[in-house]
Amino acid sequence: MTAKVETTLRSPQAYGLARQVVDEIEAAGVWPTPLNFELWAHALGDPDGALAGEIKRLVAASEPFTEAVTDMLAAEHLPRSRLTEQIRDAGRVLDRELSSVSSVIAQAHKSQAAYGQTLDQAATSIEAAANGDGLRTIVSGLTTATRQVQHETESLEKKLEVSTQEVVRLREHLELVRRDAMTDALTELANRKAFDEHLAAACDHAESSGSALTLAVLDIDHFKHFNDTWGHQTGDQVLRYVASVIGRTAATPRFAARYGGEEFAMVFHHESVTMVEAALESVRKEIASRSLRRRSTNDELGAVTVSAGFAVRQTGETASAFLERADAALYASKRSGRNRVSCAERLPKAA
Ligand code: C2E
Repeated sequence: MTAKVETTLRSPQAYGLARQVVDEIEAAGVWPTPLNFELWAHALGDPDGALAGEIKRLVAASEPFTEAVTDMLAAEHLPRSRLTEQIRDAGRVLDRELSSVSSVIAQAHKSQAAYGQTLDQAATSIEAAANGDGLRTIVSGLTTATRQVQHETESLEKKLEVSTQEVVRLREHLELVRRDAMTDALTELANRKAFDEHLAAACDHAESSGSALTLAVLDIDHFKHFNDTWGHQTGDQVLRYVASVIGRTAATPRFAARYGGEEFAMVFHHESVTMVEAALESVRKEIASRSLRRRSTNDELGAVTVSAGFAVRQTGETASAFLERADAALYASKRSGRNRVSCAERLPKAA
């Protein structure tokens, strides 16, 4: 499929296909981002393919192409998404290799220095013991050899210094690539993958250190209705707004992620229930207090609200069980009228 589209995009039909792609993107009501262009180019370039079929099905069902939907289509149908995974894996392997090269370099540093020192010491002790001319010659020969080795050591050290800087540079570059692969493009918060990894590591740490770990999940109230009324481009702006408030509250060492379509998660380390509840209440109140405007028409959109639920990790609890309890607290907030924060520990126990 890819090869076919790639060939068409370099053929006399290329501009016709590109124009058709733009028309279809506009008809579908999505932003002409590179990712959406790629999705529709593949669908139009291969009209009988699985991606084209899925897009037709969504159009027939009047399903909006929200960011979450196009992300899912890309993950399932675009080779590039698989490539991102491969780049991440390759990056990990390379990182590991670089670590071992770094330690070899450090070791070579040490042995070279030790070798120079040994020769120096040998020369000194022979010189002290010798009286005759013969021994003096040996000493002088040894001293010359020592100086040569020291000279070589210095030049090797310079080369190693350059290599070490290169390793550091590559590491930083890899870190940037990895961060990109862990970030949600719309909201710039951590994405689901990053959240899963962070939560698993945080659970391990909490288990071994016995420290407090709290997980909150937040969901925009009536988001579907909002999207249906104002269009999902405005819906995307709302996601960005809610994410910006959550992101500000969840500055490091806290952690925030876009966990699903309109669902967000926050992780609190070493914080009391009172502190977590106060942080979530401030997010909830700030979001509810602001009246948003539709950028294209300046229409008043009114306020959006969020519901939140949080849970304190129990000893031995797995990440998924922990998430389930935080989710249950979120649904308690939804059931009891939305725009509120609930704590899993305070929910009535199921019969
Ligand atoms: P953005 O449009 O990129 O705006 C980034 C930040 O610039 C906003 O952060 C805000 O601090 C400032 N800003 C931009 N436009 C205005 C404005 O017209 N008036 C004021 N007072 N400040 C402005 P903030 O508020 O955290 O919003 C983050 C994102 O959420 C925005 O990114 C935008 O995508 C969305 N958003 C926020 N409020 C609205 C709104 O009323 N309507 C729409 N359509 N989107 C909004």
